[in-house]
Amino acid sequence: MGGLTFSLDRSRLSQPEEKAETAEEIIERDLVIIGGGPAGLTAGIYAGRAQLKPLILVGQAFGGQAATTSEMENYPGFPEGIGGMALAEQMAAHATRFEAETAYEEVTEVDFSQWPFALKTYGNSYRAKAVIICTGTSARKLGIPGEGHFIGRGVSFCATCDGYFYKEKTVVVVGGGDSALDEGLYLTRFAKEVIVIHRRDQLRATPILQKRAFANPKMRFVWNTVVDEVQGTNVVTGVRVHNVATRAEDHIPCDGVFVYVGLTPSTQLFRGQIDLTPEGYIVTDKRQRTNVPGIFAAGDVQDPHFRQVVVAAGSGAAAAIEAERFLAEKAYEALDKGT
Ligand code: NAP
Repeated sequence: MGGLTFSLDRSRLSQPEEKAETAEEIIERDLVIIGGGPAGLTAGIYAGRAQLKPLILVGQAFGGQAATTSEMENYPGFPEGIGGMALAEQMAAHATRFEAETAYEEVTEVDFSQWPFALKTYGNSYRAKAVIICTGTSARKLGIPGEGHFIGRGVSFCATCDGYFYKEKTVVVVGGGDSALDEGLYLTRFAKEVIVIHRRDQLRATPILQKRAFANPKMRFVWNTVVDEVQGTNVVTGVRVHNVATRAEDHIPCDGVFVYVGLTPSTQLFRGQIDLTPEGYIVTDKRQRTNVPGIFAAGDVQDPHFRQVVVAAGSGAAAAIEAERFLAEKAYEALDKGT
């Protein structure tokens, strides 16, 4: 995938142009995009190009889940594949080119009951005439003893970030979906053995990944098995498991555990403000509109079905186009009223 260059001007990624003087000062914007993954950055490209000067609040880092993906083989235009972070950096540079402003600020509070909508981050208060929510998903945890304790010391949710630390080591991957196999295959570059522990005897992952994983001599599969505990002292030394068919318990020695058991939508902030599905995804119509006029959502936060970068990017573009239409309507309304 090498050879790609990107020109991300990081000086533009620090603070919004109209910095508040005090905590009480409110910064007014036409469009605020919450989230800097493929959906948010694409919305930024489109809204920037429509001259809306959008502000993208990316939180601690941009790129979203996509940035943790080692290699993407199915994003159009990259027949050789492209790393998730490299793609996100290209998108961020693209948004910056069209004067989208990107700030490393985490939204802590929203109030969508008033218009313009109110948003707070740790440092600033905003009023926005339109908002596009692109907060994506976060990795689901197993919720077993030892998992939280060993995060950063043997338990990881990101092979791209941590795989390098497992050179010639044995790692366990929990899960049977695309992420487990994709990232498990990536880990074989470093680890001497990658043990995939799956709770059933059939994988959920797409056939092409299954074929590659079964053909990889470094990958081993433990079927019908659930991990009950991550064990260790200062660092991880293994996992306690049981077979769901026989109930037999076992200990599998390993140096690291990578958890890929699905994703949870990041919507806690919006609970009670906009409609969510029982699973916590934002409900949108085909035009990326939520039940609150002026609030749009795009990407994985409203998509339990596809969760593909290209789909997220497409919905980000659609949301930006709709936000532009909404803002134009509001501007006409204001003209009519003579305000
Ligand atoms: P996923 O498709 O939801 O798979 C989660 C896996 O974890 C499943 O195999 C599931 O088992 C297992 N699991 C769930 N809860 C568990 C628990 N408590 N204990 C043990 N195992 C558990 O999630 P994903 O692999 O992260 O993929 C998410 C989405 O991103 C999918 O739509 C996927 O296609 C997409 N994706 C695509 C690519 C690509 O195109 N290259 C790469 C990565 C992800 P069961 O199978 O028994 O339910």
